[in-house]
Amino acid sequence: MSTRPSILFPLFADLETLDGVGKKTAQSLGGLEIERPRDALFSLPYAGVDRTLRQSIRDVQPPATATVQVRVGLHRAPTRKGGPYRVTVEDAQTTFAIVFFHARPDYVQKQLPTGQDRIVSGKVELFDGVAQMVHPDHILRPEEADQIPAFEPIYPLTAGVTQRTMAKVTAGAVARAPDLAEWIDPPLIAREDWPSWRAALQQVHRPAGPDALSPQAKARQRLAYDELLAHQITLALARAQQRKKPGRPSVGDGALRGRVRDALDFQPTGAQDRAVDEIVSDMGAPHRMNRLLQGDVGSGKTLVALLALLRAVEAGGQVVLMAPTESSARQHLQGLHPLAEAAGVVLEILTRRDKSAERAAKRAALEAGDIQILVGTHAVFQRDVVFADLRLAVIDEQHRFGVAQRMELGAKGQAVDVLVMTATPIPRSLALAQYGDMDVSILDEKPPGRQPVKTALVSVGRMDEVIQSLKRAIDEARQIYWVCPLVEESEVVDLTAAEDRFRRLRAIFGEGAVGLVHGQMPPEARDETMAGFIRGDIALLVATTVIEVGVNVPNASIMVIERAETFGLAQLHQLRGRVGRGSAASTCLLLYQTPLTEAGRRRLEVLRETEDGFRIAEEDLALRGAGDLIGTAQSGLPRFRVADLDRQAALMATAQQDARAVLAQDPELLSERGAAIRTLLWLMEQDKAIRLISVG
Ligand code: ADP
Ligand code: MG
Repeated sequence: MSTRPSILFPLFADLETLDGVGKKTAQSLGGLEIERPRDALFSLPYAGVDRTLRQSIRDVQPPATATVQVRVGLHRAPTRKGGPYRVTVEDAQTTFAIVFFHARPDYVQKQLPTGQDRIVSGKVELFDGVAQMVHPDHILRPEEADQIPAFEPIYPLTAGVTQRTMAKVTAGAVARAPDLAEWIDPPLIAREDWPSWRAALQQVHRPAGPDALSPQAKARQRLAYDELLAHQITLALARAQQRKKPGRPSVGDGALRGRVRDALDFQPTGAQDRAVDEIVSDMGAPHRMNRLLQGDVGSGKTLVALLALLRAVEAGGQVVLMAPTESSARQHLQGLHPLAEAAGVVLEILTRRDKSAERAAKRAALEAGDIQILVGTHAVFQRDVVFADLRLAVIDEQHRFGVAQRMELGAKGQAVDVLVMTATPIPRSLALAQYGDMDVSILDEKPPGRQPVKTALVSVGRMDEVIQSLKRAIDEARQIYWVCPLVEESEVVDLTAAEDRFRRLRAIFGEGAVGLVHGQMPPEARDETMAGFIRGDIALLVATTVIEVGVNVPNASIMVIERAETFGLAQLHQLRGRVGRGSAASTCLLLYQTPLTEAGRRRLEVLRETEDGFRIAEEDLALRGAGDLIGTAQSGLPRFRVADLDRQAALMATAQQDARAVLAQDPELLSERGAAIRTLLWLMEQDKAIRLISVG
């Protein structure tokens, strides 16, 4: 398994081994991420041009592409330098001009000899009301007519690469594609009526018509499925690997959890109960847990995490809760503290800010097992932090973790169960792509009694009105977040804008009433300001997006977001989630600068229409496309060449089921189908999967 099957060699050879590809072209193709013939196979045309031969251009609505047979008439060379070179031609019904700029006359003479017949194909345009074809795409003798495909695929291009190059390169690559043993489940391929891999490649690169370009076309579906299946096999292998490692069943008597439930002044939601059951049953099983808890802001993930933590403590173990930032770690500590106290469990925090003596004391307590729940930042994973009996790691808000990092984390602990919590609802297809190696629990129900957040779009031109309404709100003892825009990539610029806004608001509302927090302040100063806001001394908190994650101040009921149009939808949703946490009616003002682009307006309207994070995520995906939604390399989401997660979403779920089913039956991919899947993994360059199989 550790070497590529020889049947694939021709597809992984140098591009220059393809007919008509020289060193320069090969280099240029790099701009399209085509490094080997294999890459060309999966570079699909995005459009097509109808080049069916017609009688005349007379009925063509310019500008449009047309293909006709013409009798070549007179040539007229340019009358001035740089002027057009015109050739009059006549088709079955009309005459028109073929026009060249900067062409050598002898070249044109040779291409279009007067008195002879030619097939020409190109874009017909009107110039001064007269039809003409500038630089035809094809000029051929009538007997060569069949060289022009009736429907010509159009590929994405880059500097130095023409459509003609792409046609040649893809045709050459397709010609090399071998017949490979089928890796798709036979009933599935029969049900979907998909072509074989090789036939699919031929169809996508020689589309019969516009329908063949649709993401729903059978050949495209099949190739997309191949890509998704390879990805899901990788994830399923990672999952199997993870589960194979011995875990330690954490079994408890429920006593601690019972105490916490008694201490709550509310009932857990059905979704919370469900999630806790799923997690606790994973923890009690002999395999290692690797689970994602997905829930919108305010859906109550903290309680779910706590009940899971207590299970591990009941079993006599320790747990760690890792937060992305110092301030969210402190928030968790505060949130958990009363409940941990009710349960009689020792809770501590460890961050980089601990002085060395403090740190040493905490480390000793951890090693002795005297601390049962440790909350912290990345600092908790440092090598010198040793636990007596670590059983569960809960990672909050780490949607930026990729598969590889999760696997590393799993390797680090002894037999630690892992629960990742994310507050970023993402569409199902993306969740499967990104977290397909994990099991997923979803909190799809909000605690009752929440009032909806009223969201309004306000142009910055109405700033004075906004200020007036905030004055009234402060008189009613309400508290306000004011989020400053992400002006530039540079934090320095953001900071200047925030400080500027802070000074102006302070001048209006008074010295003590306004606070400022941003990412570059010393942590102590930030904590102090946050504490002032939590106590209610500060009425209005000006902030950069540092408040996005993990801040919980129930009395804050107004959120102002300045230049909301510059934020992403998911981020706006997160920010708005900071209000609406108490019992008072909450408001979110989205201040925007005019003029708004169409897409900008649509984004803000989506936010006004709904508070459902999953719907917002779906809209975001539709508006922006999958690649953009999760961000770039750091997302852990692979970039697919063929699959379109937006329009072929259903395939992903099928691929995951199939991948898990295959591995359940044939964990080492030794069956006939297993062997075919190995070839697929090589073809799709799933190195990680290949390594996982080779280590067995
Ligand atoms: P998340 O982390 O998912 O954004 P939190 O766990 O911070 O949400 O919970 C938000 C708020 O809702 C907290 O104040 C929490 O005490 C409260 N809460 C959690 N579960 C419930 C429930 N079932 N009923 C009422 N309030 C709840
Ligand atoms: Mg939270």
